[in-house]
Amino acid sequence: VILALFLAAADAEYLLYKDSSKPVEDRIKDLVGRMTLPEKIGQMVQIDRSVASADVMKNYFIGSILSGGGSVPGQKASPETWINMVNEFQTGAMSTRLAIPMIYGIDAVHGHNNVYNATIFPHNIGLGATREPPLVKRIGAATALEMRATGIPYAFAPCIAVCRDPRWGRCYESYSEDPDIVKAMTELIPGLQGDIPANSPQGVPFVAGKKNVAACAKHFVGDGGTVKGINENNTIIDWNGLRKIHMPGYFTSIIKGVSTVMISYSSWNGVKMHANQHMITGYLKGTLNFRGFVISDWQGIDRITSPPHANYTYSVEKAVTAGIDMVMVPLNYTEFIDDLTLLVNKGVIPMSRIDDAVSRILRVKYAMGLFENPMADDSMVDELGKQEHRQLAREAVRKSLVLLKNGKDSKQPILPLAKNAPKILVAGSHADNLGYQCGGWSIEWQGFTGNDRTSGTTILTAIKGAVDPTTQVMFQENPAADYVKSNNFSYAIVVVGEPPYAETAGDSLNLTIPDPGLTAIQNVCGSVKCVVVLISGRPVVMEPYVDSMDGLVAAWLPGTEGQGVTDALFGDYGFTGKLPRTWFKSVDQLPMNVGDKHYDPLFPFGFGLTTEAAKGNY
Ligand code: BGC
Repeated sequence: VILALFLAAADAEYLLYKDSSKPVEDRIKDLVGRMTLPEKIGQMVQIDRSVASADVMKNYFIGSILSGGGSVPGQKASPETWINMVNEFQTGAMSTRLAIPMIYGIDAVHGHNNVYNATIFPHNIGLGATREPPLVKRIGAATALEMRATGIPYAFAPCIAVCRDPRWGRCYESYSEDPDIVKAMTELIPGLQGDIPANSPQGVPFVAGKKNVAACAKHFVGDGGTVKGINENNTIIDWNGLRKIHMPGYFTSIIKGVSTVMISYSSWNGVKMHANQHMITGYLKGTLNFRGFVISDWQGIDRITSPPHANYTYSVEKAVTAGIDMVMVPLNYTEFIDDLTLLVNKGVIPMSRIDDAVSRILRVKYAMGLFENPMADDSMVDELGKQEHRQLAREAVRKSLVLLKNGKDSKQPILPLAKNAPKILVAGSHADNLGYQCGGWSIEWQGFTGNDRTSGTTILTAIKGAVDPTTQVMFQENPAADYVKSNNFSYAIVVVGEPPYAETAGDSLNLTIPDPGLTAIQNVCGSVKCVVVLISGRPVVMEPYVDSMDGLVAAWLPGTEGQGVTDALFGDYGFTGKLPRTWFKSVDQLPMNVGDKHYDPLFPFGFGLTTEAAKGNY
């Protein structure tokens, strides 16, 4: 018995790194001091969910998992399904010798958008139009709750790219072409993470508690400034320009305690950001004193060489030496582990660099309380897609709308529309399509089409709900002009725009909306009074068509809550949004941003007509 007691006491050896009463920095030091090289390198690895299992987590000491875009566990998985999945992986991580929790990350970039039934908020470009940072903060807080509902504590958001050219396929992920607006919208960070306490030391990652999640400012830096807006390309700009245009969002994010920073695929003046030691170690970690961890983009280190993955050992050396702490490998993790082990054993990468990386990852995990609470529970499942969040999204949609035209002559505005018109026409490919409304990064990486992949309200459904019961609402996706003319409509609402896309798939040199949309505009607006509601991730070519319209509303990519659009169309609320970008006349003018010498836009940056909330009588 005495021997057994003795053994039990020895078993329960005091471990400082597990003692929550000790300062975090002491705990980190204690833990790093106990770790073997494989345990350290494992912390630096982020793998995709598709290659993860409890055994993989355990055998390779993996530090992190992600759900890459579209990597959903079953089409309509419940929050409980997500929680069970995350917990299973966590059990693997916790069964290692030192029981270091893993961190699970996801692209929750406009709400918890990979999850069935989640509230999907407008994409960032729409939020930029609201000019309302506190609204964005509330969206961050709601997103954090919905993420926690599914057991996920880390969002790859906000994207603080300053998109300087709408030909870029990620323009909608950018709040604005204007650095000051992007900077203000970093309020998403305290929304996601909670408010950093006053007097916190500069650069220390902060996550308030179990209702919050770790954030990620991305993509460092200059992602929105590439030549012709070509994704992952080269940003050619001098230091002053980089600092003034692309950096302010990072200054603010770090002050607000952002936990992580993701590196950009792009190059700056020909140097791949993933290999830029001067910018990552020297500037971000040095000058700006960022203390959280730096994460690579998906196979971002592979792309240091051209073609990608041409010399992986070299890429690993460059990336880790540059200062990347966690590598989103995310598939061939054994290759990464082998290469990094070799580089450390050969002395090419010093142990001090590995210890720095691991310390930063642990610092974020401690900040999140993961050591104290590694397992997710189902106490918050009701947060997912709840009414209050949908109301918030509806409010955001309404405020994101930019009214570009109201009436062919200013004395006869067409908006707000009457709720009691006898008969109205709703037309266009985007009127009754939730997937189109949501855009890319929604359920799937490239988005979806149709109405059955998640729950929400299409604009058509919202219109039917907004008008009087006596109003007849006719819907035709692509009506012929004769049909429109012969039907005695009071007016028509044409909802058209871009199909969903993400990243490089969205790069476009012509920025036209596809033809069924243009034909719908022509057939309808040539035949009856019409309001065009444009669903797009950016300004598109509109100059040739504007004259034919009575009203034009830029609705961006509004997400699941279509009633936000009708709230303003029918005058329950006024239009208040302002253009977060310059609306060009023709693509030959691009890039063209506010403040440029030759500035000749169709609608200038900041433009937006207003209406008063009205009764909407016809
Ligand atoms: C994107 C990132 C994203 C990552 C993980 C990459 O392709 O550039 O913004 O966070 O994938 O899904």
